[in-house]
Amino acid sequence: MGGEVSKNTKDTSYTIHPEHELTLMEPRDPFYCTACKETGFSTGYGCSKCVVRVHQECKSPSPESSLRLKRKKHSLKFYPDMNAENGKPRFCAVCSQPVRGCGYRSSSGKNCHPSCLTLPKSIMVNSAELRLANKMMLDCKWCGVMKRYIGKVKIRSWSYARENCEYHVGCVKDMVIESWRNGEFVPAKEGDGAGQMHIKVDLSSRGISGNLGSKLLELARKGTMAAMTGDPTDLLG
Ligand SMILES: [Zn+2]
Ligand SMILES: [Zn+2]
Ligand SMILES: [Zn+2]
Ligand SMILES: [Zn+2]
Repeated sequence: MGGEVSKNTKDTSYTIHPEHELTLMEPRDPFYCTACKETGFSTGYGCSKCVVRVHQECKSPSPESSLRLKRKKHSLKFYPDMNAENGKPRFCAVCSQPVRGCGYRSSSGKNCHPSCLTLPKSIMVNSAELRLANKMMLDCKWCGVMKRYIGKVKIRSWSYARENCEYHVGCVKDMVIESWRNGEFVPAKEGDGAGQMHIKVDLSSRGISGNLGSKLLELARKGTMAAMTGDPTDLLG
């Protein structure tokens, strides 16, 4: 390793890729984060020598953070590998995706991706502004359901919402990818209020019998099936 100057050691006990320096990526296309294994669609860093791309939040995460759910604030601790810590899948309390790489965990068992702690407060979807909210109140316009289940366990999710329209945060990650594939994704601009992220998606092709390729829809379907054969009051509650 000789000669390399180690950066960002000030406020963290963990550095994702100490071998090389990670530099700010341009242009800001969506990417797969090597550290947390989730989609990145805001500021990312990459290594010019290796296939390493990480969220800003995953590059040199602070050892502690916190997450507010309902009225309670949960203290979180950083773990470089949540799978190794847990032995079984854990789901992010914000985006409801499995936490398969690095992540945060509270003593009460709440889990979270580093990047899900700093999601943009608002985004633009098909030219309408949606705001981040810490719950789902309506069926998601992307996957068609409101509550999601793994077996009979309800998986928590935050949403991007405006009146009559809500999306799971996890579905928004899928929407970013689709929008980008169609050449219609505009990342957020740096600086205060300089510009929100813009997503354009075709919702007419969606619905309950919509895109089977969606991980989340699969989860939703499995969950619904389980709930139908199990305790149906879970779905009505
Ligand atoms: Zn990440
Ligand atoms: Zn490298
Ligand atoms: Zn998450
Ligand atoms: Zn959804």
